[in-house]
Amino acid sequence: MKIIEYIEADNKYKCLSCKAHLSAVDSVVSKEFKGSTGVAYLIEDVVNTFDGTSEERELMSGVHVVCDIFCVKCYSYVGWRYLKAYREDQKYKEGKFILERALLSKETS
Ligand SMILES: [Zn+2]
Repeated sequence: MKIIEYIEADNKYKCLSCKAHLSAVDSVVSKEFKGSTGVAYLIEDVVNTFDGTSEERELMSGVHVVCDIFCVKCYSYVGWRYLKAYREDQKYKEGKFILERALLSKETS
């Protein structure tokens, strides 16, 4: 298993089930996304996750190659990662992550 990383930022998102750090609040690119549980965030950088199987998926903005991502500590599903976008106007998502808001807990200081 991967060593758990810690995020130094004051405001961060953590795995709802085990509280492993997942992302700094500052890394959020957009809150206008939708996941399987409702509101989802597009995020520049996420730690402490591992990739599931990559697959082509039909999303609201067209077909993308994505893989689900899971918490390294408790194996909970937390979102997905964009590996490839076919449409030119969707390319900015490549390499970025989606975290589902309902599966996160927020820590602020
Ligand atoms: Zn977890």
